[in-house]
Amino acid sequence: MRPIIGITPARNKDYSTYQLQKNYVDAVFNAGGLPQILPFPDNNKGTIINRYIDNIDGLLLSGGIDPDPLLWGEQPIPGMGRIDPLRDNFEIELIKLAKDVGLPILGICRGCQLINVALGGSIIQDFSGENGDFIKHRQEAPHWYPTHTIKIENNTILAKIFAPDQKIKVNSFHHQGVKKPGKGLIISSRAEDDVIEAFEDSTGLIMGVQWHPERMKKESGMHKLFARFVALSESQ
Ligand code: MN
Repeated sequence: MRPIIGITPARNKDYSTYQLQKNYVDAVFNAGGLPQILPFPDNNKGTIINRYIDNIDGLLLSGGIDPDPLLWGEQPIPGMGRIDPLRDNFEIELIKLAKDVGLPILGICRGCQLINVALGGSIIQDFSGENGDFIKHRQEAPHWYPTHTIKIENNTILAKIFAPDQKIKVNSFHHQGVKKPGKGLIISSRAEDDVIEAFEDSTGLIMGVQWHPERMKKESGMHKLFARFVALSESQ
């Protein structure tokens, strides 16, 4: 039976409309899952989040705008973008509860950053505000097209998924990245400028990727990330 994969949506610019790119839904369908979009309530959060967690078999956190830096104790810098505090809080509570009950969690782009923040980590607010030589992480190319390579750490789940390749090509749509990893997170990949591109935890239930696998073509092999995630969700 298809496991139910809860997917968190974004909201539009005036926060009046939920939105989710169809690619996420397609990736879950194609991997054998049943996608269920999870809108976030203005109140009664506890009860609703508990019911969501009861009803889903896996949690997929989609991409979107920047997390609020106050969440990890930093003031916003000028290069930081738009935020949605309600979404931040909703996703953080979902992640914590999903982790507590042992649900598989996959975070994509912003989703990867939210997992990190939920587990006590911090985020680089804007690469242009940092010293150092960064490669271009905000690509200007078709969304499916991989514009930079990443190095995969040995002895990680990510390495097993993409074996024998130790370097793969990914697309890139971020100006932020993981700074201090959250509790229990193992860095599984970095870009050539050492920006963190993926992490996982020791249980294998939590994985975050900074790129957008759902936008990439079949020959990229990115469907393997969703296949593993949905299979793991089915076994819960
Ligand atoms: Mn990148």
